[in-house]
Amino acid sequence: MRGKNRFCVFLNIVDMRVYSENNGTRSADTLLRNMRSLVKTFFPDAQVSCENNESFCVITRDVSVEEKIDKIAKGVRLLGGITPVLLKAGIYLIPRDEDPPVSELLSYARIAESFIHYEDGVLFRYYDDELKQIISNREYIRKHLEEAIQNGELKVYYQPIIRTLNGCVIGYEALTRWEDPKLGFLSPKEFISAIEESRQISILDTYMIRKICKDLREGLDKGIQIQSVSFNLSRLDFHLSDVFAVVENAVKEFAIDRSYLNIEITEKILSESELIRLQIRRFTEAGYKVWVDDFGRGYSSLNTLKEFDFDKLKIDMNSAAFHTDQSGEIIIATVTAAKRLGIRTLAEGVETKEQFEFLRSIGCEEVQGYYISKPLPLDEVGPFLNPKGILPEEDADTDLFVEAGRTDISDKRPCSLLVLTGGRFKLLYMNRSCERLLAEVLGNEKSLDKKLNDAEDRFYHLIRNRISLCKERGGDDCFVLPIGSGTLVFRLRILSQNADKAILKIRLAKAELLDIDSGN
Ligand code: C2E
Ligand code: CA
Ligand code: CA
Repeated sequence: MRGKNRFCVFLNIVDMRVYSENNGTRSADTLLRNMRSLVKTFFPDAQVSCENNESFCVITRDVSVEEKIDKIAKGVRLLGGITPVLLKAGIYLIPRDEDPPVSELLSYARIAESFIHYEDGVLFRYYDDELKQIISNREYIRKHLEEAIQNGELKVYYQPIIRTLNGCVIGYEALTRWEDPKLGFLSPKEFISAIEESRQISILDTYMIRKICKDLREGLDKGIQIQSVSFNLSRLDFHLSDVFAVVENAVKEFAIDRSYLNIEITEKILSESELIRLQIRRFTEAGYKVWVDDFGRGYSSLNTLKEFDFDKLKIDMNSAAFHTDQSGEIIIATVTAAKRLGIRTLAEGVETKEQFEFLRSIGCEEVQGYYISKPLPLDEVGPFLNPKGILPEEDADTDLFVEAGRTDISDKRPCSLLVLTGGRFKLLYMNRSCERLLAEVLGNEKSLDKKLNDAEDRFYHLIRNRISLCKERGGDDCFVLPIGSGTLVFRLRILSQNADKAILKIRLAKAELLDIDSGN
């Protein structure tokens, strides 16, 4: 046995406290007893101890330690009955000929486990050189945070948010970046959790909030259209500081209207405490918009969201829930259900044209992601987007498009959305079935908007008369018109209008298939 590697393994159950609350302490005790037997079965010669009544420490010379952990995890999974119990492990390979105290060994194994405790699909992690480097970086980060803020090494990057209906920029998400002289470029993934752990996060977020308001003020003074900016708050911001006062002070200092700021909080923190719920209400009551970030990670249902006055759901396209065969259906269901609750939807992490087109076709109102642009320094955003024809939305258009975006277009019936400006139509969106139906009656002769804008066409006057009537009367209109080689039923709805524009939804059906009961 001498000279053989020794391992210290820390075995921990994810959310043991939650298990105990849901199933009672007796069940929790039974679970731990059974787990101990399992551990003993797989490591019969090891030194096994139970830590804080919820985890185990094993010191062993068994080289098949990874395999054994896997088997124990499979066994533990079944111990919880209908609620599968998740096990995670941290491993420390004890250097040969060293004999540090068990408490020290355990602390390394614990740290390794803590790094993967909430990481999906990872069972164990070693305390290795990479982890040592990460830990030393984290220490450096904590020590240098305030200095970095003073030296201007922490920057705010802005990622544009686009409205799917008109392709215009309607706002930005502010994301922090750290350019450190020693470690180089640090991404938030590397430093946010480190400064959350050391409870310094509110220092960063206070700085971010002030800097965003300062940028907004500078932009406004130069006459640049920045629109609104959303920023991220951590759960700890609510505990460590009076974050509402922090935002209010910054808003006052730079004379920014509250409507310029949106607050992003993850759905996970909603279930946390009454304190957080109260704080969220303070923000919404004061006129800030609060968005639910990372929706789809499975922490809350849409019902929980109803309780709060949330403005928007951010659906994370990279979340595991959206990487299954049913992902399309899940996204459609989420968008449609949110619309019914009056909550808007923004898909983030949109990387491809296909994703963008899909989201647009189901009525997801806004998108953000590499497909449009990476987060950039504020002064680089315009020069990057403008040559691509992506421009800020006109202020006067915003209410019009927000209102129109509330409509549900996720079903497959022929449907199109058009904007009517100064007597001219512009097509905003048309679904496939509508394209097919029009191709059938019009041939490839003309597109719908061309036909609607052609004063020589009989249809030009007919449809304008109907729209004028509809505008005067308000509400919907349904009429039958000959068009091309066919006769179609038009169901017309004015989704929104202002002094110079109206957004219309037109549903079409073949006259012989007229189904008078189906609405708009
Ligand atoms: P988040 O709030 O979910 O932010 C979106 C993240 O997705 C950002 O990562 C962004 O750069 C990245 N992203 C944007 N488009 C795409 C895409 O098309 N594909 C993929 N794969 N990723 C995309 P980032 O900037 O690294 O930030 C990571 C997280 O750190 C943020 O996630 C947020 O939770 C946190 N964070 C960032 N800045 C701050 C801050 O100032 N305060 C606090 N409390 N947290 C922040
Ligand atoms: Ca966010
Ligand atoms: Ca997010």
